[in-house]
Amino acid sequence: MSTPAFLLQQRFDASLYPASLIALDSAALALLRLASGKRLAIAAPAGQAILDSFEGQPEPLTDGLLVKLCPLSPANAAALRRALPHLQPALLGLRTSAGAGDRLGLATPGHVRAFHAVNAPPPLPIFAQQSMRETARTGRTPQIVLDDATWGAFQGGWRGPLGADADHLKTPEDIHLCAQAGYSFFTIDPGAYVDSAADQDSVAELQRKLASLPWETLESDPRSLLELYQGRAIELEDARLAIGEEAALRAAVKYGAAIAHVRRMYQALRAEGLPFELEVSVDETETPTTHAEHAFIALELKRLGVRWVSLAPRYVGRFEKGVEYLSPAGMMGDLDAIATDLEVHAAIARALGPYKLSLHSGSDKFSLYTLFMVATRGLAHLKTAGTSYLEALRVAARVEPGFFRQVYRLALQRYPEDRRTYHVSAALESLPQVDSLPDERLPELLEHFHARQALHVTFGSALAAHGQQLKALLQQHEELYAQVLERHFIRHLRPFSRPA
Ligand SMILES: [Zn+2]
Repeated sequence: MSTPAFLLQQRFDASLYPASLIALDSAALALLRLASGKRLAIAAPAGQAILDSFEGQPEPLTDGLLVKLCPLSPANAAALRRALPHLQPALLGLRTSAGAGDRLGLATPGHVRAFHAVNAPPPLPIFAQQSMRETARTGRTPQIVLDDATWGAFQGGWRGPLGADADHLKTPEDIHLCAQAGYSFFTIDPGAYVDSAADQDSVAELQRKLASLPWETLESDPRSLLELYQGRAIELEDARLAIGEEAALRAAVKYGAAIAHVRRMYQALRAEGLPFELEVSVDETETPTTHAEHAFIALELKRLGVRWVSLAPRYVGRFEKGVEYLSPAGMMGDLDAIATDLEVHAAIARALGPYKLSLHSGSDKFSLYTLFMVATRGLAHLKTAGTSYLEALRVAARVEPGFFRQVYRLALQRYPEDRRTYHVSAALESLPQVDSLPDERLPELLEHFHARQALHVTFGSALAAHGQQLKALLQQHEELYAQVLERHFIRHLRPFSRPA
């Protein structure tokens, strides 16, 4: 007798995504690409409960089987995660992991291919990952982001565990929204509470500021806190990291309110009563996180009972959007300072955790990946976001040069304004003009430092003006987009494959 999976395949043939086809007890599920749009198809014997748990149109298949064609609705996404629990965002713990943000909601099938293509065990994936800022800019909601990733992971045939990152959350309301949507990994960004002026303040000024920290939330007082760190050092494997009173004073002023905010956010998360894991990120501050500051933050969070799986300090050098790592002196390929910096941060994370170190703005930092894995011994999380959008533009440059020229011209026009909210060094005068560039050379702009960065940071303007057209183009050239992403992400993921 033919199985439901076989019959589904036979019935829908070329419109069925082969990787999505999965047998489940006496039923089979698959994703279809029909002229009317994508549908989830479920084949099962009439009367099976699984047919009732999805909304859609049943019709006879054969041999007493029904097939139900289901729209990709939020209710069906939730039902799919219940039916296939590996699609339900899970806790990834301390295992090496990598997040792939997707601003358009169309990249996950390509991401899945890249994770599949890494031969050694790949890092564990986080497909749904978006900050509230990006969610607002792209007109999506946390639920839409998660559902798009669910459908994409299903289409690509992902069968392992996955996480979902509610990225750079700043308020308890954000937490509630994302917890209810089903996220598992919460990145708390207390950046707004970091007082970077503390780096330069006089001791008298620091003392004055210290008095006004939120001591109730910090469950301490200025004197007790400084006493706690007087002459304090932590033992790393082959070094001793002294914190000292003045460094503690400076760190307390710089990060005290931020630590209090993380604690409030952590309590808000716990109050949701759902399983979760936490990342603490201070990567978007004006100055690098010193080793003493890192240790101080970790010791204070521990003292306050906060538990986290990863932490993102701001490392030395420049982590600019969509381009290679630049050293503190602005040099590409100069890795001496960051190598030492990472070694010590990683040693602190082992001594005070262990927890993972997180690499934010991590896309396209190819020179760093091996270094990062070696320093952290695999206690590592990689975060990439906008690079999948750039790969979408690569597809546009290849298949619709005229459209790509429009997007590029808009980037030239918008760059001076849109760059304001980012740390970027692309220079307007270094941006190539496209008028004299033949169509076949347009994809080269995605390799050009200045052009790539300008295209990256103007994504909000580009999506506002051309988002619908870009999405339609990617849907039409879905296979090419997946191929391009696979090639691009293998380079990100291979160095992060997990030690056996
Ligand atoms: Zn970040």
